[in-house]
Amino acid sequence: LLVLGVESSCDETGVALVRTQPHDLQDATLPVPELLGHALHSQIDMHQLYGGVVPELASRDHIRRVLPLTEQVLRDTQCSLSDVDVIGYTQGPGLAGALLVGAGVACALGAALNKPVIGVHHLEGHLLSPFLSADPPEFPFVALLVSGGHTQLMRVDGVGQYQILGETIDDAAGEAFDKSAKLMGLPYPGGPILARLAQGGDPAAFALPRPLLRGENLDFSFAGLKTAVATQIQKLGDGLESAKRDLAASTQAAIVDVLMKKSLLALRLTGLKRLVVAGGVGANQLLREQLNAQCAKRGIRVHYPELHLCTDNGAMIALAAAMRLQAGLQEATRDWSFDVRPRWPLDAIEAAS
Ligand code: ATP
Ligand code: MG
Ligand code: FE
Repeated sequence: LLVLGVESSCDETGVALVRTQPHDLQDATLPVPELLGHALHSQIDMHQLYGGVVPELASRDHIRRVLPLTEQVLRDTQCSLSDVDVIGYTQGPGLAGALLVGAGVACALGAALNKPVIGVHHLEGHLLSPFLSADPPEFPFVALLVSGGHTQLMRVDGVGQYQILGETIDDAAGEAFDKSAKLMGLPYPGGPILARLAQGGDPAAFALPRPLLRGENLDFSFAGLKTAVATQIQKLGDGLESAKRDLAASTQAAIVDVLMKKSLLALRLTGLKRLVVAGGVGANQLLREQLNAQCAKRGIRVHYPELHLCTDNGAMIALAAAMRLQAGLQEATRDWSFDVRPRWPLDAIEAAS
């Protein structure tokens, strides 16, 4: 099967083409679909002017980008639309107007070409994206999903088998990076910029909160961190500029420390020996270093998406569509009337039609 995937849930338009590999239905382990090509446009430059994503502008930009990106992928892979067997699109969660663009284009293409379509959960895309890396994981594993809007620990037993072990009760990890960075006067999205600034700083310079670390709690809370950063900035006053690197390093250390410790706890509680990290914050080098070091000590394997597939992209959506179809979890449909699900918990995915 040749599967085209379209992502438009937030501020990246992504289109990709994957091909499923032939497999024996009796065989429990499915071969990972092959990524033939993908194209991506990030709206970061446009939203940077406003310090965050402007939903209306995001939708309009998706409209401008999605067909040229589709043409680019087809050109790069030397495929034509008539070769495509199924069209997958991000059905949610995300910005409603942005989701509607990808869903509308995918279903319109499907209707015009008489090809079936399949709606995909954006977080399942993130979660499965490490399967496209040179070192793909095997089920079962603990997943740390750390993106701009979500922070969850999951037990994953197979495609579509997701049990949430813990999640943030307020801000997501990416949000904690972005909001702290904004307080420090850094441009949007602050995560990677704060991480770069932190390189020259002292992570122990400021004592910042690491909440919910006691006991066997697998939930997260990052709202207090942002408040603590704001308080430090107020105290520093004119001294902020010279202390910025230290504050960035201390902020990053606090977030990474919590993510690392909670991941180790989830591994201990489940007894699993494999960790999969996914989502934009999974690109963070300090997080990778610390997880690698701690997991190596415990005989635990860690898997990550390739760096350029940590944040939103079409490849993970095409992949998730293909893996769901391959696993027989969901059928693509020729009912091209679509809906989007701006709010859609990942563990409610079975209820999807
Ligand atoms: P969601 O997937 O939950 O809907 P999203 O799609 O906006 O949210 P992603 O694209 O997965 O999130 O990730 C974006 C987030 O990752 C941003 O918050 C960004 O700051 C953060 N991020 C990206 N690179 C890094 C990095 N190197 N260090 C820390 N944070 C990073
Ligand atoms: Mg984004
Ligand atoms: Fe995302």
